[in-house]
Amino acid sequence: MSQLQPTSGEQFDVVLQAQKDKRPWIGIVLTGAEVTLRHDLPEIVARARDAGFERIRVQTHGMQLQRHAYLDRLVAAGVNEFFVSVTAGNEAKHDAITKVAGSWRRMRAGLELIERHYPQVSVITNTVITSESVAELPGVVAAFQGYRSVVQHEFWNFFPMEEIDLKSLCVPLSELMLPLRAAITAAHAAGRLVEVKNVPECLFDDDRAVLVNKQPQLIIDDAFWIGFDRNGFHTCPHRSVCASSECLGLTTAYVRRFGDEADRLRPLSSATKL
Ligand code: SF4
Repeated sequence: MSQLQPTSGEQFDVVLQAQKDKRPWIGIVLTGAEVTLRHDLPEIVARARDAGFERIRVQTHGMQLQRHAYLDRLVAAGVNEFFVSVTAGNEAKHDAITKVAGSWRRMRAGLELIERHYPQVSVITNTVITSESVAELPGVVAAFQGYRSVVQHEFWNFFPMEEIDLKSLCVPLSELMLPLRAAITAAHAAGRLVEVKNVPECLFDDDRAVLVNKQPQLIIDDAFWIGFDRNGFHTCPHRSVCASSECLGLTTAYVRRFGDEADRLRPLSSATKL
């Protein structure tokens, strides 16, 4: 994402004015390469709150939240949700995936502060499912056992934003559902919500309600969509006969590596779709 330009202050002003005038939205998500690196994030949050956003979410790797004074400023300004990247269920694996020594310890320290001091704040964990993280999915849920603040886990099946899986991060469907289903079951048993993105809908059974591919309205550099289109979503040999309206099928990069999975994918009838 390093080639993308940040959303301008003028565009943000337009969003705030629209919210003040007509309240079209309930919440706003502040995100970026790493939005907590912006020195003015607390001021941005406060402006969103003053414009009338009820839910203000910061999407982050979580490492800055261990600075209690900074976390306090964000919460006082109006943040009431943190969407935190958790790549694995333990320190060694998380640090190996992020390639940042200490990233797990700092992220966990921030979540501990939220857990102990901010009962009004919720945490949603976000795990991108890759060949490096797929075995870790149940561990992600287990790592936050007993945390009041962690209300939801999201699992986003990796899409490479290009036609080739250059880093070999796509997970073959044959290895995907066992750990994913174990994580979903554990999260539901803990009373948490789950959202899964970019997994073929026909791989689910009666748990398919967790598949939520819809995204909030996105205000971002137009260049983002060039890469997004290179994913080639909706590739599926059964697309023309499948009744799913939610499914994104496979990506071009996936099919190039693993084939079209014609025997594994099963078109849905109108009676079984979401
Ligand atoms: S058959 Fe294809 S389009 Fe239908 S749910 Fe499965 S992957 Fe999605």
